[in-house]
Amino acid sequence: MDYLLKSLVNNRNVRCYLARTTNVCNKAIEIHDLWPSAASVLGKTLTITLMMGAMLKDEEALTVKIDGNGPIGLIIADGNARGEVRGYVNNPHVHFSREGKLDDVITIGYNGYIDVIKDLRLREMYTSTVPLQTGNLAKDFTYYFLHSEQTPSLVSLGVTIKEDNTAEICGGIIIQLMPSATEEDIVMIESMENQLKEMSRLLLRHERLEDLMETLFKGNFQILETIPAVFKCPCNKESFARGIATLGAEEIEDIIETDGKAEVVCHYCRSAYNFDKDELKNIKEGLR
Ligand SMILES: [Zn+2]
Repeated sequence: MDYLLKSLVNNRNVRCYLARTTNVCNKAIEIHDLWPSAASVLGKTLTITLMMGAMLKDEEALTVKIDGNGPIGLIIADGNARGEVRGYVNNPHVHFSREGKLDDVITIGYNGYIDVIKDLRLREMYTSTVPLQTGNLAKDFTYYFLHSEQTPSLVSLGVTIKEDNTAEICGGIIIQLMPSATEEDIVMIESMENQLKEMSRLLLRHERLEDLMETLFKGNFQILETIPAVFKCPCNKESFARGIATLGAEEIEDIIETDGKAEVVCHYCRSAYNFDKDELKNIKEGLR
């Protein structure tokens, strides 16, 4: 089972989000027919989006958009506070490796932007953009947290893709200093950087995330929340009917006359929705 732990560390000066997302990654591979590099990059993006979702409240949600001008194109993920995430990439059929390791930097590119769009249930969306610094997502999100959210953080993400093109493991961690953090907390976080570089190996060695927390923080932590993590797309036929309605009466009439039907495919989950002539007519009538 995939899940995420939200914890406080070191007498409440540090907070930690730890997630295992192997099933989420495998679901994304299955839906989008991802090749290994695309699986690595989307798996990591879904993981960071899930952890950022856990920083939100109730009905709040966020979208992460990454565009590094590399072969994979745009990478998009949506997440919320309930551990639900969905996502896709422009080009799922990319594969670049170097010295036997998947090369995320070549796959993503390193000349572009990360956009984080938060829906905090206010009148307007809250968007922040940072330049993509390296094409290494853990480093780029460390930069994002520092510059957009003024929160010094340590981020590590790990994915291992097997020969049969499924994920053996996928997951990540975000450790953040709270405003009350002391010099001692900063030193502790810095000293963990090397240990956390091998995120996949750490996750493989600990079947339970609680045990990994114990290895990392040696009893000096308090788990606040355990959230099940799942790849879930809430799309339905009604929402796509509303999308067709935005085309306007003239365009819909055109579709009715030329094709007599319409098929719409969801970018996030590849579900196809078919609208026959009568349904299209109903949508058009509804515009009056
Ligand atoms: Zn969908």
